[in-house]
Amino acid sequence: MIAKQPLQLLQKALRGKYAIGAFNVNNLELLQGIVRGAEAQRAPVILQTSEGAIEYAGMAELVAMMSTAAQRATVPCVIHLDHGKDLDVVRAAIKQGYTSVMYDGSSLSYDENVRNTAKVVRWARAAGVMVEAELGAIAGTEDLVSVEAREATYTIPEQALDFVERTGCDSLAIAIGTAHGAHKAAVTNIVLDIPRLKRIHALVQKTPLVLHGASSVPDELVGETRMYCSMLGDCQRLDGAQGIPDTQVRQAIANGVCKVNTDTDLRIAFTAAVRETIVEQKDVFDPRKLLAPARDAIQRIVTQRIAVFGSKGKG
Ligand SMILES: [Zn+2]
Repeated sequence: MIAKQPLQLLQKALRGKYAIGAFNVNNLELLQGIVRGAEAQRAPVILQTSEGAIEYAGMAELVAMMSTAAQRATVPCVIHLDHGKDLDVVRAAIKQGYTSVMYDGSSLSYDENVRNTAKVVRWARAAGVMVEAELGAIAGTEDLVSVEAREATYTIPEQALDFVERTGCDSLAIAIGTAHGAHKAAVTNIVLDIPRLKRIHALVQKTPLVLHGASSVPDELVGETRMYCSMLGDCQRLDGAQGIPDTQVRQAIANGVCKVNTDTDLRIAFTAAVRETIVEQKDVFDPRKLLAPARDAIQRIVTQRIAVFGSKGKG
């Protein structure tokens, strides 16, 4: 079913100290793998598309596909825009039937971020859509090599309170040490700033917090992908790839995080399965036979993530 009240789902998760998994959809097989994984675990789930996915597949196509899958699903499904940076895209998403949108003004000045987020909240309220905002900057794969540079972009707790009060946003993505992409840490192991998270949560108690860039980047999946790829171009990123340990994600969930995003793990799982099928099953000609193993791989990784987030049986 389509979750018409996504904020209630998050607030319930906040009270119950578990997190709802948010997984990125770019095509039909990803969507089906995610929904099947969530249904098998009886877990509510957030289906999200980035601006890049919209560029690739089209907003109307993605919404139609996600809405149909959600209506037929036996668990609540939120249809969410991930990292909307372009206000026109965010407004279009609200009109097209997304039940939740993220406005990401984290690269703007604080005042501009407040202004634009408040504007999105006004549009969304009128349509009954929830709004996630971002404060602080969540690092990307190539960004911020030094620990000092990364910490300078972390969310400031007092500012988070001011931001939530001034914008009226429903949930807040925070920067406490996670990063987008396969390289979450350069040399040393990653340590999330849990004391900072506790201070933020104590100040904005009722606001669900969101953890981005939280993929686990499992060694066995990286190894499997490496076996079949050139390690050139984008695949070079798998060299020394490092994710966020499950124990740290659980600690974050115990302290106010109730939505956790996963994209990189899905990419690795999907690519590993497709590459393996191409190499190991040279007689395959039917695209369905090429992509079905990837869909199964997505279902498996979604199942594993849901177990970490504690949302099993909550749908
Ligand atoms: Zn993100």
